[in-house]
Amino acid sequence: MFEPAVVSPGVVDAHCHAASRRFIPRSFVEGAIRNITVMHEALGVPVQPGRLVDRVLEALGDHGCDELVRQMDEAGVDWSVLLLPDFTYRLKDCELTIEEMFVEHRRILERHPGRFQVLAGVDPRWGRDGLALFERGLKEYGFRGLKLYPPCGYRADDRLLYPFYELCAAWNVPVLLHMGPTSSNLDFEPARPGFVDEPARLFPKVNFILAHAATAHVDECAMLCAFRPNVYADVSGFQESQGRGLSHLLRSAPAHKLLFGTDWPVFQEDARQSEHLESFLEVAREVLAGPRLRLVLRENAARLFRSR
Ligand SMILES: [Zn+2]
Repeated sequence: MFEPAVVSPGVVDAHCHAASRRFIPRSFVEGAIRNITVMHEALGVPVQPGRLVDRVLEALGDHGCDELVRQMDEAGVDWSVLLLPDFTYRLKDCELTIEEMFVEHRRILERHPGRFQVLAGVDPRWGRDGLALFERGLKEYGFRGLKLYPPCGYRADDRLLYPFYELCAAWNVPVLLHMGPTSSNLDFEPARPGFVDEPARLFPKVNFILAHAATAHVDECAMLCAFRPNVYADVSGFQESQGRGLSHLLRSAPAHKLLFGTDWPVFQEDARQSEHLESFLEVAREVLAGPRLRLVLRENAARLFRSR
C-alpha cells in the first residue's frame, strides 16, 4: 500500500477555497489572466486569452473537495479553512447565487466531517437579506466566520459591515479579509490593511484576519498584528515571491498572530499541497523555533476557528 510521506503531522491550512468553477465567475479569471497575456504579448509569444481562461476553469472541477482532502492527507493537514467569497454582487456572471453557494459549502462540510471549517462571505450591499443569510450560515449550516472580499468595492470600515461584525461578536467567530491585489477586474485600493484598524478597535471581541500578509502591505499587516490584540494574519500566497515576503513577515509579526495557509487551488498547477507546505517550512524553520512554529502551523488556527 502507498504510504504518503507526512511532512508535519497535525497542520491546519487556514486559507483554502473549493477548487470549483461553480464558485468563481469567468470574469474573475479573465481579469487574472490579463497580466499573463500582457507579458506574453511583450515577449512576442502568440496569445489566446480565451483558451487560457478555459484551461483554468477546466482545472476547477473538484466540486466536493475530494482532491483537496487527498492532498491534505498526503501533506499531513488535519483540517483546512474553506473560504467562500461573495463575488455575486459585483460580478454578474456567477453560475450560482450566493445562497446556492452557501448550501453547496454546507454539503462539503457534511461530505468530509471534521476536515473543514467554512468562513462564508456576503457582500454587505445585499442588505438585510445578506445579513439573514450570513446568520443562517452560522446558526444552521455550522459555518465559523465571515469572509470578506473588499476588492469587490467596499472597505472593512464600511458601516454596512458593522451589523455583520456584531453577529461575529455574538457568535465568537472571526472575520477574514482579502488584502492586496487580485483579479484586474476588481479594485485594489479598498483592500488595504489600514481600513481594518477602526473596526478592530470598535469590535474588540471580534478577531480580524488579514489574508495574504506575506504578499502585499507586509509591514502594515505586521504592525496591526503587533499592536491590535485582535488582529491576525495569514501567509497564504507566500508562493508568489519565492519566500521573500514570507521571511519578512515571519520576522516582523508576532508568531502567535500568524496562520499557515496555501490559498489552494491558486497554486495547484505549480506543486502539490505537501510541496507547498515543505517550501513554507524551508523558510519558516530559519526564522521560528519549534514552539513558535507550532503556533503558526496549528495552534493559532485551533484557537481562532475551533473555540466558540
Ligand atoms: Zn484566497
